[in-house]
Amino acid sequence: MVKDDCIFCKIANGGIPASTLYEDDNFRVVLDAGPASKGHALILPKQHYEDVCELDEAVGSKVLGLAAKIGRAMKSGLGCAGFNLVQNNGEAAGQTVYHFHMHIIPRYENGPAMVSWEPGTIDAEDAEKIVQAIKAGL
Ligand code: AMP
Ligand code: ZN
Repeated sequence: MVKDDCIFCKIANGGIPASTLYEDDNFRVVLDAGPASKGHALILPKQHYEDVCELDEAVGSKVLGLAAKIGRAMKSGLGCAGFNLVQNNGEAAGQTVYHFHMHIIPRYENGPAMVSWEPGTIDAEDAEKIVQAIKAGL
């Protein structure tokens, strides 16, 4: 399904021009318009899925392989030292465009610091409660 009022549906299907670095039957990969670093790209499925919870399993199973392919090309083509895969689900997680997308963010030596957090703490009792709470939803 393609959603008429979805900007990423339009970009993924060629309705709005974008800097495309890869395209196949299922995906278009474009440069992010507000890059976190040089080469920041987005994997966009051509079909509309709001987030990873809605993503078709067959399409979803191809995302990581494609991300690795693009990441390798960023390392050889742009000379980045590594890359982050970031994928936001829900407003609380920072999602702003409600069409599934995977960020591929090149990381450079001395590049901007990002995608990090202050490690917290957890004890065995908390861990067990959290595990049980998540398992109840599986
Ligand atoms: P998220 O916060 O995970 O939903 O990420 C949305 C991303 O889409 C942001 O990094 C934006 O810079 C990017 N973005 C929004 N509109 C466009 C657009 N028209 N073309 C390319 N990237 C876009
Ligand atoms: Zn869409």
